[in-house]
Amino acid sequence: NNRVIVVLAGGVGGARMAHGLQQVLPPGRLAAIVNTADDFVHYGLHISPDLDTVMYTLGGVADPVNGWGVAGDTRRTLDAIARYGRDPWFLLGDQDFATHILRTERLREGASLTEVTAELAAALAIPTPILPVTDDPVATQIRAADGWLEFQDYFVGRRQADDVLDVRFSGIERAMATPAALQAIARAECVVVAPSNPIVSIGPILQTPGVREALTDTTAPVLAVSPIIGGQALKGPAANMLRTLGHDVSAAGVAQIYGDLIDGLVIDNADVELAPQIEAAGTRVMVTNSIMGDAADRARFASEVLGFANSLSPEQAAVR
Ligand code: GDP
Ligand code: CA
Repeated sequence: NNRVIVVLAGGVGGARMAHGLQQVLPPGRLAAIVNTADDFVHYGLHISPDLDTVMYTLGGVADPVNGWGVAGDTRRTLDAIARYGRDPWFLLGDQDFATHILRTERLREGASLTEVTAELAAALAIPTPILPVTDDPVATQIRAADGWLEFQDYFVGRRQADDVLDVRFSGIERAMATPAALQAIARAECVVVAPSNPIVSIGPILQTPGVREALTDTTAPVLAVSPIIGGQALKGPAANMLRTLGHDVSAAGVAQIYGDLIDGLVIDNADVELAPQIEAAGTRVMVTNSIMGDAADRARFASEVLGFANSLSPEQAAVR
């Protein structure tokens, strides 16, 4: 049996979901397909925020408070950069710099992002393939009231204070999903869309040429976990973004965004009253505590999600 559970992931929400699944599945049975549209070059280094968050989390070295960066990391390099008169607006720890330095070196040598990520993840003894959705450059841009911004200028530089009026993924029409990502979907027993930002984390994964087709071709159940609980995001700009882009800021709005792509949606106990309308629109619903706390809690949640996926599989459809 070489089938896998595939998780589509952005940063913190995606990493937590992947971590839960990695704990409850045997090694090699999970594959994570990760957003790369947040990637950018800073100090000449190739930084992949979502890949790093997933890698540090699956490697057990992530900062438990922030969810991103390395636990216990120091800021000496950034302090030294500030001493040269540069504003260190993007926080990078010293150990984090090591990741970006080595990634950049290997990319310059001609390695693909997929290869570099596999090398770094192997060194951290991570049993899960961490697959960038594409090796091609794609850059999220945000339209604010005063014009288009690069994603990190909006997200970190301006602390997500702007209303997001439009979003585009520069370069995506020329990008290709990697063979590794497409093969993972083709071998999928189920696909779990993590509770990541539907617009700027899952959006670019789904829009990468090849991915949507692969997801419609598979007979495996596709389910999503709502990142919106009680009309709010646990953190980050997802709720505001949905609102200013004209979506319903609720688990039902998330179901609408994913539409026919998903067979099921996991929503939080807080949203139980939304279940009937989501089901009436054709998406099966599981209601549970969907806030992933510590490692054990992530594992608990992942088991529940897998149980739900099982109930959605084509073999179960006859029983329903
Ligand atoms: P980013 O790239 O670090 O911004 O992270 P993602 O796109 O992966 O995820 C951001 C979303 O994850 C936010 O909307 C959060 O509400 C959601 N999120 C984070 N942790 C959890 C969790 O434990 N449960 C649920 N349901 N959503 C979560
Ligand atoms: Ca991100």
